[in-house]
Formats: sequence, C-alpha cells, structure tokens
Amino acid sequence: MIKAVFQGVDGAYSQLALAHALRERGIEAQIEGVASYRHLATAVAGGRADAGILPLENAIVGTVREGYDLLAEYALAPLAEVLWRTDHRLLGVPGATLRDVREVLAHPLVIAECGTFLATLPHARAIPCEDTGVAAREVARGGNPAIASLGPSAAAAFYHLEELAEHCADDPGTYSRFVVFGADAADAWSGGGARPRKTSLILSVANRAGTLANTLTQLARGGVNVSKLESKPRLGHSDEHTFYIDVEGDLHDEVLREAVARMQREAKTLVVLGSYDAHVGAPAGANAAPAPISLPHLDVQPRSEAQPQPPGVVNSAFPLVARASRPGGSIVRVGAVSIGDGSFTIVGGPCSVESREQILLTAHGVVERGAVMLRGGAFKPRTSPYAFQGLGWDGVDLLAEAGRATGMPTVSEVMTIDQVERMAQRIDMLQIGARNMQNFDLLKAVGRAGRPVLLKRGLSATIDELLAAAEYILSEGNPNVVLCERGIRTFEPSTRNTLDLSAVPVLRERTHLPIFVDPSHGVGVRRWVRPLARAAKAVGADGLLIEVHSNPPEAKSDKEQALTFDDFAQIVHDLERIPLEHPALAVTR
Ligand code: PEP
Ligand code: MN
Repeated sequence: MIKAVFQGVDGAYSQLALAHALRERGIEAQIEGVASYRHLATAVAGGRADAGILPLENAIVGTVREGYDLLAEYALAPLAEVLWRTDHRLLGVPGATLRDVREVLAHPLVIAECGTFLATLPHARAIPCEDTGVAAREVARGGNPAIASLGPSAAAAFYHLEELAEHCADDPGTYSRFVVFGADAADAWSGGGARPRKTSLILSVANRAGTLANTLTQLARGGVNVSKLESKPRLGHSDEHTFYIDVEGDLHDEVLREAVARMQREAKTLVVLGSYDAHVGAPAGANAAPAPISLPHLDVQPRSEAQPQPPGVVNSAFPLVARASRPGGSIVRVGAVSIGDGSFTIVGGPCSVESREQILLTAHGVVERGAVMLRGGAFKPRTSPYAFQGLGWDGVDLLAEAGRATGMPTVSEVMTIDQVERMAQRIDMLQIGARNMQNFDLLKAVGRAGRPVLLKRGLSATIDELLAAAEYILSEGNPNVVLCERGIRTFEPSTRNTLDLSAVPVLRERTHLPIFVDPSHGVGVRRWVRPLARAAKAVGADGLLIEVHSNPPEAKSDKEQALTFDDFAQIVHDLERIPLEHPALAVTR
C-alpha cells in the first residue's frame, strides 16, 4: 500500500483523478489531501508520500505553470497523465430546490466554467472558494438550503448532498489535465510500453529572432510531434523567455533523446521533467460513479444550535463547546488546512512581522520544512510600552503577502474590536492572545467576524475559563474556534511559563473543539521548545504554534524562544515519528 496525496479535501476533482489513475493500474493507496501544491511537492520529495497529483492544464486558464514549476524545482518524476472531465453539478442540502439557492460556493475556475448556468439563477451570488471539496463540505456543514456548491457527483455522495442541477458547465467537454508524480520514475506506473508516452520540458531561450525556431527545429528534424507549447517571460531575465513544452515520445527513444540533446545546445537552459504515460482516449470521469474512496473521518453534521440534540445529552454550563454536543469532535478549516481532522497541523512563523524580507524569508523557510500555516504578529501585546509594538497594518499586509507567496493560510492577533473587521478581510484566522482571553467584547466581535479563531489560554486562566471564553465566540454564531494551551503562570520561574500539557486530555474530554499547543511561549527558551513539541503531539494535541525566525539573534520580540530553520526542521522530523493520539480514541475512558 502506498501513500498518495492531492491538494484539497475529500471531493476535490484531483482526488477523483488520482483515485482513477491508481485504480487503473491496480495500485492500492491511502489517499490524503494536503494544503497546497507546494505541500504536495515537499511531501513527495521529502519521502512522506509516494505519489502526488498536480494540475498541468485547465480548459479555462490554460497552463497551470505552478504544476510544471514544482516538478522542476523539486526534481520530481512525472509518472502518468490523467485527463479528467470536470462535470459540474449544483449540489445542495437534501430538500433544497433551485429556487432556494442564494449563494453558490465554487472554485473560481469552476465559476468561470459555469457562467451561463449561473446567470440562470438570478437570485444567487457566486462565492469563490479554494477548492471543490471544501465548497461541498461547507454546504453540508451549513445545512442551509440557500447555500449550494458546484462540483462533481462524487462530492455529493461524500457529503450527502443532492444534485439540484446537472451539466452546469458552459462547454460540456471541459476537462483538466493532471499529472501523477513520484520522487523517481517507478515501473508500477508505466504501462510497460502498452501506452503512448509523453515528455515534458521547460526551455528558456534568448529573446532574439530565430532562437526559438532554431531550438524547435531540432524536434522537427527528429520527427518529434509537439503537443503543447506555451510561453512566459522569465522573471528577472528580461532578455529571455521560458516555454513549457510537451512532446510525444519517451526519452528512451533514441530519436527523442538526440533531438533533446541538440535543443540543449541551442537553449539557455533546458529542464527535462521526464517521460510519462500519456492519457489514452476521452477524458475519464464523464458519468463516473462516485469513486469508492473510504474516508477516514467524515464530519459534516451542521454545527448550528438548531441541530436537534437527544434530550438530556448536553448538560453543561457551556453547551455549545461541550463535547456532548458534538461527540465526534469538530474540524476547523482555515483555507485548505483542516484542523482536528486527525492530521497534525504545524503553524510556524515569527513572533512579530518585522520587515518584508524577514517575513518572506521565514515563510519560505517554514513551508519548505513542513509548516502548513503561517503565524506573525502585527499588533503585539507587549509588557513594556517601550518594546517593539509591531508594524500594525503594514505588518498585516506583509503577512498576507507571505501567505500568498507560500500558499499558506495566515494567523495573526487582533487586540481591539476596531481591528477585527479589517484583519478579517486580509488574514485567514484571527488570534486572541492570552492577555485578551477574557476581553469579552472582543470575543463577541470575533464571534461575528466570519473567520476562524485561535483562542489562547490566559496567563492565569483555568480550563473552565478558557471554555467559557470559547463559548462566547460560539454563541455569536462562529463555530470555528481552535483552543491553544500556551503556558500559565505558576510559582516556577525557571521557564517563561509552565506549559500545562495536562490541559490537553482534560480539554479533549470536555470539548469538541480542536486543541493546539504553543510550546514557544510555554517555555520561552529555544532549546526546550523541541522536547515540549514532541510531548504536545504525544499527549494528543491537534497541532502546534511555533515561533521561528530567519535570524533569531536579531528578532525584535521573543528572541530567546525563536527557532532557527534548522531547529524547526528537527522538530518536524521528530514529530513525524510520533504517532498521533487520535481525538476519537482520546475520549474513550
Ligand atoms: C503570540 O502568539 O505572539 C503571543 C503574543 O502569544 P500569547 O498571547 O500566548 O502570549
Ligand atoms: Mn511571541
């Protein structure tokens, strides 16, 4: 059994295409979603997964350059092409009708592909969403007949939705082209010569008359057929152009090998991505039955208060956060990251955003080493008024830019009510810091902000007070709260705080909300963060919040606890060896 990864959550088109490619070859796999395309590449390059799937082309946008670029950047081996027919349906909760629909959630490309259909729903607004699976899951969670999504039949089956309309794409033939890739070329994927082969190249040539023609002539001379050619300017090299090229044939064929060698002599650079099985016949997926993928954890019950409860089950001062109200636990989604779904979420980044260079460097440093979310404070609650107070809104914009550059959702602290709305427009998750855990008006404001919240335990707050604070947020209609143990003040001065790891199993029993641990503020000393990070995973946390800095000695806040990239990589490496204490198991007594 191999492990294969796709970007998104259950019900994404790329998951269906991946499952199809595996089934066709009789390869058994455990299939998992990850947060971004870059995470796919790093998971496979780092040996955490055996295969992944990336998009290369879409009917509307054309080439998905990131797909080609990541294969090149991580020297990954393309194995098999899959053309997947994207047959969009309108998916709603059971009982909903077309007339009820006011909002349609969908990936922006899907919205573009379904323009004519959407125009027939005069009362509905299309709302972009990061992926097809996420859109369907949101509809199921909301339980609201006014909200529908666009996606495949398989997503309807996964999330128990109904198809309110079929064949919603303007062009019935729309499809996407994906490539399954691995760390190395693997025989299990090649049809043993039975299938035609394709080879992909990234070429750059000088921006002068005749250079491209001369290079391509080498292919023509060998009788090699070019099936795709697309150009883009080469960033930072205004005198060069880059071309994405697919040709028919395999590099094992002498003719192609020689043609490529001749091209190499003409080109400035030529990256040979590799040869792989071409897709045969019409795109797969048309009228496909829902793919038989077993889902490890599917939690799509609506979380509204209105959900009927068996009488007498919830008997708590804080009913909305009580475990009994959602015994299966809840999943909090931040962008494409799912917290509490049985995976372990690592959030990395500096204490404070200090400059564009610092946050971009740190963001790249942590994403390449396994972080899936980016942290960074722009408004800092500092004990001394003379200490660095953060860059404010400039810091927020820089954090958002670094999040976009690395494909990570972001989290940052809000300190006042008037910061909430603007922060919610730019940042994916709002942090309530320890010092504000009982700022009840602020809790109510983030309860209405429509963004997930990271709620840190107060310096001297009890577990019940933390739950009461979370109840404030849920009672305003926001169910997406992650709790964070970050150390409490005790009589022990050897560590910055006393990291109360016993809070994790206690919280697990009392609440359905996911639980993070912040070992950085917990101990406050760089070399002790690593053992506590290990302990946090072992004790059953859903994820970690860790402070990392591109240059710790220069950090403008909390430099004693800031980790270097190497420290962070070691922790991620350690954590991979610690089995996850699954929340569902953690509550059985
Ligand atoms: C932080 O995460 O940067 C922070 C200030 O944390 P806390 O509120 O836990 O002190
Ligand atoms: Mn800090």
